[in-house]
Formats: sequence, C-alpha cells, structure tokens
Amino acid sequence: MDELRSERMLDRRKALKSLGAALAAWAGGLALGRVLGGGRPKAFAAETPRITPGNGESGEMSERIVRTEEEWRRILTPEEFYVLRKKGTERAFTGKYHDFKGKGTYVCAGCGNELFSSQTKFDSGTGWPSFWAPISEAKILKEKDQSFFMSRTEVLCARCGGHLGHVFEDGPPPTGLRYCINSVALKFVEKQQP
Ligand code: FE
Repeated sequence: MDELRSERMLDRRKALKSLGAALAAWAGGLALGRVLGGGRPKAFAAETPRITPGNGESGEMSERIVRTEEEWRRILTPEEFYVLRKKGTERAFTGKYHDFKGKGTYVCAGCGNELFSSQTKFDSGTGWPSFWAPISEAKILKEKDQSFFMSRTEVLCARCGGHLGHVFEDGPPPTGLRYCINSVALKFVEKQQP
C-alpha cells in the first residue's frame, strides 16, 4: 500500500515538473517574440526623426519636431497623414503640383521646412512633382527602402521625419537626380526663392 502511494506521488511530481518546463518554454517564446518582432518599438522608432550623419553641411537644421502619432493625426489631413506618417504614395497625376509651374518654394506640409525651389523643378512626365535637387542637403534625410521588392532611396523631411517620396538617378543635369515627391507632402509658397 505504501509502495503504491509513493509511486503515485512520484508520478505527480513528474507531471508538475513537465508542466513547469512547458510554462518556461512558453514564457521564453513570448520573450523571444518580443525581441524579434514586437510592434511597439517599431512604431516608436517611426515617430522619432532619424538623423543621418553627414547631412548637416550648413548646420541650419538643428531643430527637430517629434510628435506622437495621435498628434500628427489631429494636425494633418487624412491624405497628408497617410503619405507623411505612413509612407503612402498618392496616385500619379492626381496631386496638385505635378503639372504646376509657379515660382516659389515648396515647404513640408507637416512642419513648414523649406524643401525644394521651383528653380530645380522639372517635368518628369511621371505624374509626381520632380526636382533635381533640394534647397539644401541639410533639409532632407535619405534612407534605404527595400519595400515592395524594390531597392529605392526614400526621401524624408529632416525636421519632422515625414515621408516625402524617393530619389532616383535618372534625373536631368546638373545632378542627374530625380527627387520624386508626393504633392500631398508639399505646400507651395509663392516667390520665396532662397
Ligand atoms: Fe517636415
């Protein structure tokens, strides 16, 4: 009788031990999942404008604007929020500036940072406003973008971190660059040439 009882206790102990191991593995998996692909740190990173070394040649862009996603959602129109904060793209030939020829300055729709001059605007025929240079390299940031199975260079506003568009190496002289920018990410200000 005693033997049977001790055997049962041993079985119970074994069962508890394997349950404990299973729990530990589950908790470990959770922790690993958080390290590998937690959504939260990523969302936070997208809210923080990144600074690319070597961009601030004139040093005039010391001011940075950091806002929460909710603040941006309140300040921007839904279209601006989609492009600037969610890296969206407006449909070609639908924006207000792709065929616009006013003389002046294009500022960031999110923060007013002066980005492009009408002097560097050219007709690329793509349906998006195109420029061969920014007003200054310090006004923008460039980042590698590997989304949609393409390797592109993303262009962002250096002040607020807003997504503007992409830059390609098939532009006209003197730079050979084509800054392909969403109209929604820009606001035109007349006759304020730098
Ligand atoms: Fe901006």
